[in-house]
Amino acid sequence: MFKIALDAGHGIYTRGKRTLASLDPSETREWYLHDRICDKVEKNLKKYKDYALIRVDDTTGASDVSLADRVRKANEFGAQFYLSVHHNAGVNGGFGGGIISVAHTNATNQSLVYQKILYDELIAATGLSGNRSAPLPLQNLYVLRETTMPAVLVECGFMDSATDVPIILSEQFAENAAEGITKALAIIGNLTEKEEEVMNKFTDISGHYARSAIEELYNMGVVNGVSDAEFAPDRVATRGEIAVIARNIIRYITGE
Ligand SMILES: [Zn+2]
Repeated sequence: MFKIALDAGHGIYTRGKRTLASLDPSETREWYLHDRICDKVEKNLKKYKDYALIRVDDTTGASDVSLADRVRKANEFGAQFYLSVHHNAGVNGGFGGGIISVAHTNATNQSLVYQKILYDELIAATGLSGNRSAPLPLQNLYVLRETTMPAVLVECGFMDSATDVPIILSEQFAENAAEGITKALAIIGNLTEKEEEVMNKFTDISGHYARSAIEELYNMGVVNGVSDAEFAPDRVATRGEIAVIARNIIRYITGE
């Protein structure tokens, strides 16, 4: 079970964190851009198994969760990787920018490896390599310093760059960035994709009232057949079989 803490930086109402008005009259909020990508990452990840994810920001955007609270949530969750998603500023209406991936000044080797994976996958998926001389900087950022697990912060382009703004505002960019982040998380967490759902495995349940429940529970790994092809839906279960089923339900729910 690979545990991920995902952090969409800031909140909708956080002062100053928005695109440059001269490039985007609607002054899109930074959190909105992060949230859009993070939501897509969460959706993409559903095709993988054996991971658990929490968002440490307020997913309504209404409040800007303090950095201390974000870190505390991740630490208490026992996350094995912390990813903070941001967008950059500092070009002041000029050209250039692009994606950068940040690790802490005293990052562990593991964090450095993950920092590079995030960068490579984001660039491969979006092509937004920009013109930064150091696209893999080390910075003494709070969430990277105070988290107890490997941590990376990605800046998905510049909100005040004439080059980046039209790109990062687009839905397609968010899709691509989410695709890159998802792939990076799958590599980092060594995630494997879920098997295809198995239907019509058991020959003796067609027409049975419990058929869909049996197939669903089989796909969840809760129940099994009496043989490869038979479920024996009307046979009485033993106390031992019930114990195994109960344990499988608990494991499914807790993800352990
Ligand atoms: Zn930010």
